[in-house]
Amino acid sequence: MTSKLIPVDEFDYVVFGGTGDLARRKLIPSLFHRCVDGQILGNSRIVGVSRAAMSGEDFRQFASDALDRSIVGNNAKTSDQTSGADDEEYQSRKQEFLKRLHYIQVDVLSDAGWPQLAQLLGNEDRLRAYYLAVGPSLFGAIAERLHSNGLIREHSRLVIEKPIGHDLVSARELNQTVGRYFDENQIYRIDHYLGKETVQNLMALRFANALYEPLWNSAHIDHVQITVAESIGVEGRGGYYDKSGAIRDMVQNHLLQLLCLVAMEPPASNDADSVRDEKLKVLRSLEPITASNVEQLTVRGQYGSGAIHGQPVVGYLDEIEGGESSTESFVAIKAEIANWRWAGVPFYLRTGKRLAEQVSEISIQFKPAPHNIFPEGVAQLKANRLVIRLQPDEGVKQWIMIKDPGPGGMRLRHIALDMSFAEEFEARSIDAYERLLLDVIRGNATLFMRRDEVEAAWKWIDPIISGWEENNQKIHKYTAGTWGPTASIALIERNHRTWHEDVDN
Ligand code: NAP
Repeated sequence: MTSKLIPVDEFDYVVFGGTGDLARRKLIPSLFHRCVDGQILGNSRIVGVSRAAMSGEDFRQFASDALDRSIVGNNAKTSDQTSGADDEEYQSRKQEFLKRLHYIQVDVLSDAGWPQLAQLLGNEDRLRAYYLAVGPSLFGAIAERLHSNGLIREHSRLVIEKPIGHDLVSARELNQTVGRYFDENQIYRIDHYLGKETVQNLMALRFANALYEPLWNSAHIDHVQITVAESIGVEGRGGYYDKSGAIRDMVQNHLLQLLCLVAMEPPASNDADSVRDEKLKVLRSLEPITASNVEQLTVRGQYGSGAIHGQPVVGYLDEIEGGESSTESFVAIKAEIANWRWAGVPFYLRTGKRLAEQVSEISIQFKPAPHNIFPEGVAQLKANRLVIRLQPDEGVKQWIMIKDPGPGGMRLRHIALDMSFAEEFEARSIDAYERLLLDVIRGNATLFMRRDEVEAAWKWIDPIISGWEENNQKIHKYTAGTWGPTASIALIERNHRTWHEDVDN
């Protein structure tokens, strides 16, 4: 059974960068699926904006191609079983959706095109979301011209994507720039990890069950691991990535947000500010990592050539311009949270490109049973582990010890109570953007980052980066297709723990 889908109020979604990669791969397909499921009704419109000289018809063709690619590419099924680009029902629903699409040519750095945009949007204070699917250097210019053209009203909202700054100073500047024209409660900073089904489920597991919360502390949890592993390389984003590296691209936002959801105190309610207040407290409680301890607590890596699933791939330096770089494509961190609940419980964070598998998961390792009543040889008792898998195969596994069924006396086995969402709920898995795009329209900011959260995250990250620079910290090479440099194994094994890599254990 799936939850009931409630239509949202009529809106205008104005996508700056409507012809870009993010719009093509994520935003247009996501809005289409919500439309097919009956959540987008009435005269809701989607307006693409970019510099390209295109007619409305050209933009609809662009969107149509984007949908075909997305439907066929993912072999996705809409909830009501339209199955592919040739499907008649899909074609007719696509045509219905395309009627909602408009296009206006605007170079956001010039005055041209804005009057046409204002004219299309009209004078009514409709619910309006401006999605900035453009580089962050354009955010200020767009906010300013939206303001000078009278396009920011009470019911207007602004959606921005990472990267939100390069460090604390630039993040503050960016927040100040958009904050000049939009109130904080009109700004939605997307971290799409927060829209993932299993991340949502972490909230449900923790706060809709009485089972886990009494155990959710340093008395019962040995440590937590958060892994976001990618098997892809920099994939044509080399220019951006090489200036950023794994810590800015992944840890400052996605990994720290996941850490917050695991570690935060129960919020008073599920409303946006209650949740974000608790996440902020976690970020502010992170033990600082500085030049004095950065070498013990972090590992930087960069991939060399190797093979991913048997296919040879080149190394990082061959993927970027110039062939020389000390940017990390892998980082592992032992983080600690200095508060009553978590004192002494390490949070091991690890992310990298060109790793053995494409997998994101949170693994919560409980402390072992305090005493073994079973004779030696029956089994080695393994600790309980709760594994929340974000991708692929979203689901939750609770590892427990049981008696091996059948005759032959008492033998014990470590098995997983397995809740794979794909098997349990037969619906198509919903892309995080689908939920987030409509949350903006609903005015629900729970899954978006507040300004103080983003800045607190940078405040913890900046000293790590400056510590690396100050110490000229070594960058360890690793072979593409492995789990990263051996130094990252040493980082966790120093404390007699191991990374969770075996899905069957
Ligand atoms: P992209 O493919 O380069 O697209 C950029 C878009 O901005 C294009 O539509 C471009 O169209 C438009 N544009 C550029 N300059 C403009 C100007 N002066 N006036 C009006 N439109 C302009 O970039 P992207 O990959 O979609 O990424 C967009 C933003 O989302 C970036 O900040 C990126 O970091 C972030 N992001 C992207 C992804 C992703 O999966 N792609 C994921 C997370 C975050 P014209 O050239 O025709 O103007």
